[in-house]
Amino acid sequence: MQKKEFKKLIYSLSFDDLASFLESVGAKKFVAKQVFDWIYHKHQYDPENWSNVPAKVKEALQAGFDFTLPKIVWEGLSVDGTRKFLVGFRDGRTVETVMIPAKSNRKTLCISSQVGCAIGCTFCHTGTMGLTRHLEAGEIVGQFLAVTKFLKEKVGPEERLSNIVYMGQGEPLHNFEQAKISAMIFTDERALGLSQRRVTLSTSGLVPQIKKLDDFPPINIAISLHAAHNDIRTELMPINQAYDLDRLLSAIKEIPLKAHRYITYEYLLIDKYNDRKEDIEALSRLLPKEVSKINLIPFNEYPESSFKRPSISRINWFRDELEKSGYTCTIRTTKGSDILAACGQLKSEMEKKVNLWSEKPV
Ligand code: SAH
Ligand code: SF4
Repeated sequence: MQKKEFKKLIYSLSFDDLASFLESVGAKKFVAKQVFDWIYHKHQYDPENWSNVPAKVKEALQAGFDFTLPKIVWEGLSVDGTRKFLVGFRDGRTVETVMIPAKSNRKTLCISSQVGCAIGCTFCHTGTMGLTRHLEAGEIVGQFLAVTKFLKEKVGPEERLSNIVYMGQGEPLHNFEQAKISAMIFTDERALGLSQRRVTLSTSGLVPQIKKLDDFPPINIAISLHAAHNDIRTELMPINQAYDLDRLLSAIKEIPLKAHRYITYEYLLIDKYNDRKEDIEALSRLLPKEVSKINLIPFNEYPESSFKRPSISRINWFRDELEKSGYTCTIRTTKGSDILAACGQLKSEMEKKVNLWSEKPV
């Protein structure tokens, strides 16, 4: 069967991209600001309603771009307030997007950057699927727009998302250009205008792309470290064969850090595997204390995996020891475990059960 070609999504355009398109069709300079205002401030996705935009410009935009938002094909609410969404795109592919509430009305959206993932980490449910395709920037931004629309319509008009983490499915730096444009749209005042401190990109450690991060808006960077010994890290993350800890840490040193900014290191805690005294010692030799925060992630168990999560007392001991050696250290609590927790698990289970596109979107 021939692959269907889709028009580029309007939400895949950075402000400058849109401005140059508009210039090419003879529109006035200020129209780009108006278009962004309709989409990202007024959340009005149908150009027919853009009252101050000239009809000719709207026609040109409609001829050139697609305005379809992703569909929420499944939604689940956990007892702890976490909401999981299965978000579907034009070709029927789906990804997971998770909304995690926190104190002071903070709501973090965990977004996906690819369908599946090519990196193949052995502990990761998404890693077992392989890569199906990259997401277009507009599909990354579209997860935010679709969930915002859902919250406003189904929960309350004041509902808004405050933070973004690129910690759903996929390796965002493997999809560098599209992830970069999405980060521009999230942080651009003329678009979604989130503070750069409220956006965090997590990467498994693609060294050449880490070296190009100064092209990105200066958002927070989290590195999935998971081990302080090369042999253990290679077992968990095959990418460590190409870019080992030495190469990774020297690339990280080059990331431009703004004042008071840290690099966050994510460290998966697996029972009797990387939760030993010698792992703490190796970590403290590896990571500079002044600019490193460590976020411990107790392994999220799922049936096909042989890894286990350590006991709560072991997790707390690991944190205490790291704090004693001078690190700022937090433990990521598991959210939404009653609605299929591990990364990629929801998507697999749902796809087994339903033909998603025959379901009525919520
Ligand atoms: N690909 C990127 C971002 C998405 S994964 C990365 O790897 O950093 C986001 C985080 O979830 C990563 O730190 C990843 O290691 C972690 N993760 C994946 N599977 C997990 C599991 N079963 N339990 C706990 N954390 C997991
Ligand atoms: Fe990909 Fe991240 Fe999962 Fe590794 S942990 S397979 S990089 S999504």
